[in-house]
Amino acid sequence: MNEKNSPSALGDMPKEDFRRFGHAIVDRIADYFEEMENLPVLSQIEPGSLRGALPDSPPEAGEDFGDVLSDVDQLILPAVTHWNHPNFHGLFSTSTSSVGVFGEMFAAAFDMKAMLWRTAPASTELEDVVLDWLRQMMGLPDHFEGIIYDTASVSTMHAIAAARERAGLNVRELGMSGREDLPLMCVYASEHVHSSIDKACITLGLGTRSLRKIAVNDRFEMIPEALSAAIEEDIEAGYVPICVIPTIGTTSSSSVDPVDAIADICEKHGIWLHVDTAYAGSAAILPEMHHYFKGCERADSIVTNPHKWLFTPFDLSVLYCRDLGDLKQAFSIVPEYLKTNDESGVKNGMDYGIQLGRRFRALKLWFVIRYFGREGLIDRIRDHCRLARLFASWVEDSPNFELLAPVPFALVCFRACPSGVDLDALNERIMNEINASGDAYLSHTKLNGIFTLRLSVGSIRVEERHLRKIWDILNNRI
Ligand SMILES: *Cc1c(COP(=O)(O)O)cnc(C)c1O
Repeated sequence: MNEKNSPSALGDMPKEDFRRFGHAIVDRIADYFEEMENLPVLSQIEPGSLRGALPDSPPEAGEDFGDVLSDVDQLILPAVTHWNHPNFHGLFSTSTSSVGVFGEMFAAAFDMKAMLWRTAPASTELEDVVLDWLRQMMGLPDHFEGIIYDTASVSTMHAIAAARERAGLNVRELGMSGREDLPLMCVYASEHVHSSIDKACITLGLGTRSLRKIAVNDRFEMIPEALSAAIEEDIEAGYVPICVIPTIGTTSSSSVDPVDAIADICEKHGIWLHVDTAYAGSAAILPEMHHYFKGCERADSIVTNPHKWLFTPFDLSVLYCRDLGDLKQAFSIVPEYLKTNDESGVKNGMDYGIQLGRRFRALKLWFVIRYFGREGLIDRIRDHCRLARLFASWVEDSPNFELLAPVPFALVCFRACPSGVDLDALNERIMNEINASGDAYLSHTKLNGIFTLRLSVGSIRVEERHLRKIWDILNNRI
């Protein structure tokens, strides 16, 4: 073995080196978690500077792995925006737990592709168990069965594809192009729907013109009467409503569409009900939050993202279906080389979507649920909601700030509102200055045309002092 840790002639890294570097990497990650607060939240590099610091072509000879690791510190780390940082309050604040990192390590080591039961019994069966645990924690009835995908965007696309198949227009076989017998197929969501639904409509060949964006009330919740009217108008015109997508925890303001009232409408017309609760679904494990999820038990499908607010590293999104057979109907194809003599009862992940191979994602969620337990997870999410309400109370008590939306979960929509200045310009300036400083990260949205600051609380490392810090920063900048 040569001394510089460069590759041996054949085969993998020598096992002694693997141990040595492996321990060093775990130490480095532990330091990172401990020292992260001293790093700027948003990467401070200029666009293109990392690319400029890296060689244009790959090395001919293998390199010393110690050199590679020191480049992680020198080059990669400065280019990282720290999603785990307790003052990351932009978008939705998400973070990994330490045990989530362990889950990823094992998953990479096993490197299984969960296409067939026999190629990955561990992934197939653990996925069933862990998703049933999560279902119970969320208070969903036992007719729901789940499947893991990478992201909510992909989960929702699969739900709409299944809805399209169930509409009985045989798109699976005949496709959509060149068909004169095909009426417009319509999908309904609120004006505040996530852009992933627009993208699913694009991908599935429905087109954005098929997506009806229904008006919301002054709390940014879909108005069921407006939904009902839109559906009836479309039916009148000869169109076919295939799917309604209410959101519990919209992206802009975390508002809650009235799923129960929407379920009545779906039931009346026989339309697939898909609930997007990618962000807020984790809060369903809190008994005091159950009322927000009323009506979910009537859905055909529900998406929730443990990678958002359940301390599971990206990516892990769960699609629960009333009948997974609908997904199978839409996607199952078994080519000769994948036929097996396994019992007909076994589940083959490849049957439920467009992917053949699937990552062993269930392991990290299993680690998270076992390590924290239901109570530990409830305590953390409950504390995030408490901190968000506390921050909202400071906003409400201040003459210089105002709340712009209700706070059902752990997202606060607000703005600075001193008199006599252009408020949109002021708030945009405040946000940009804070983000550029690296002290914290905030993002924005527009609510009723007003530039709105968004403060999301979701990091597993967040404490009250972090909220005080951003509140002080905000007050110093107006
Ligand atoms: C985050 C989010 C999505 C998209 O999630 P990805 O997993 O990144 O695709 C969709 N809908 C809602 C409501 C979200 O909060």
